Amino acid sequence: MTQSFSELQLSPNLARAIAEMGYESMTPIQAQAIPVVLQGRDVMGAAQTGTGKTAAFSLPLLQRMLKHENASTSPARHPVRALVLLPTRELADQVADQIKQYAKHTQLRSTVVFGGMDMKPQTLELKKGVEVLVATPGRLLDHIEAKNCVLNQVEYVVLDEADRMLDIGFLPDLQRILSYLPKTRTTLLFSATFSPEIKRLASSYLQDPITIEVARSNATASTVEQHFYRVDDDDKRQTLKQIVKERGVTQAFVFVNSKLGCARLARSLEREGLKTTALHGDKSQDERLKALDAFKKGEVDLLVCTDVAARGLDIKDVPAVFNFDIPFNAEDYVHRIGRTGRAGASGLAVSFVSGKDTRLMADIEKLIGKKLELEALELEADRKPAGRFNDGQRAWREGDDEGRREIRQAREAREPREPREERRASRPARAPADPLFDKPYEPALAADAKPSWEAAAKPAATSRLSPNIKSRKKVPALFKASAPAENT
Ligand code: AMP
Repeated sequence: MTQSFSELQLSPNLARAIAEMGYESMTPIQAQAIPVVLQGRDVMGAAQTGTGKTAAFSLPLLQRMLKHENASTSPARHPVRALVLLPTRELADQVADQIKQYAKHTQLRSTVVFGGMDMKPQTLELKKGVEVLVATPGRLLDHIEAKNCVLNQVEYVVLDEADRMLDIGFLPDLQRILSYLPKTRTTLLFSATFSPEIKRLASSYLQDPITIEVARSNATASTVEQHFYRVDDDDKRQTLKQIVKERGVTQAFVFVNSKLGCARLARSLEREGLKTTALHGDKSQDERLKALDAFKKGEVDLLVCTDVAARGLDIKDVPAVFNFDIPFNAEDYVHRIGRTGRAGASGLAVSFVSGKDTRLMADIEKLIGKKLELEALELEADRKPAGRFNDGQRAWREGDDEGRREIRQAREAREPREPREERRASRPARAPADPLFDKPYEPALAADAKPSWEAAAKPAATSRLSPNIKSRKKVPALFKASAPAENT
């Protein structure tokens, strides 16, 4: 049963902001957590980003802060009353953004501080005074040490994505930060899992918490049109371009499994004239924020990213998602394609399956409980009219020496050749180096340039992925698909 926000009797200023954001009913985590936090209880919540978790903790905190004015006699005019800690800059930025929206019709002010950026503008904001501070642990400690903020009036603290904070090694920083806070406060902890470490953290810092768990959905939205194409690694980029063009995809996430693969793909798509940006862990903070911003503004069409870089990013309703690589973890498949087809909108999810992905595909099938059908896709480059080659060319391809000689003689009669030595001298020894990678520059259209008879020579695809993964169409000989075993 869906629950409406009106049941909560939130302050009209918060209710107005929620209505302006278009929220109609509460998500499950909100329906469970908001009433509990409104009562002042500590909460230990298992919920992922994308479940409405941010509103689940920030709305009741804002409501309580509005209801109970700070009675402090502190000389600071606006002491920090609520502190939200997150593991990464992107998540901190995103959560701060949402809190600003919820609080926009109130007097409560918020700001965000995270590393990798100049401290000065953050210091100015802090000095002006804020009631809600969103931060990553390292940078917050820098500000505490510089005496830019005082945390002795904090009434509410949220440890969001706590499992990731521990993974990153923030435990000592968290312990130090928590030691600056008053003992009497409300503490909320959210984590994807309740590992023994998380339980230990909770038992040290939470008091008699209520545990709330929202089951992680393994379902893929029915509004998402899912395709699995059998594509050789060398043809993936060309196939991606073709689908973008043929389906008129305006914006898409393109998921790649490695940082290097991500950088390479983004660069080559860019070289081919597609408005592309990359998001991966080796990018500087500034570059990452710029990339995200450009994508959100629609200045960039393809966001090539890794799972880690994309995790938790609040970019929704993307028309399409490409799995350039099949994710190593089946749950990531569900997360990745969950970025499209949201809220009833239709979405397209395209996955490129190469020969080595057999086990990964079987895992996805098992997780989502659906049979996956493997399809073949004809590359544009292979769509050549039947009579494309003249007799001489056909003879060349078929190894007919007589035919080859004829072609060579005819060509040389038209354009006499340089002597062999001169030809050799004028030929570059190697392609020029690509400055980013220690390998020669790859010509952009290398895949296009492949002679189509190579594909014709390959046997038609017969999928051996799993008994459930069948080839939907009968694959004609010209299709660039081959049996998985050939690629492994
Ligand atoms: P979160 O899990 O907090 O990152 O939220 C994910 C997205 O869901 C954000 O864009 C929110 O604005 C949106 N959202 C949160 N709560 C609701 C709601 N009750 N109805 C519709 N959208 C929501």
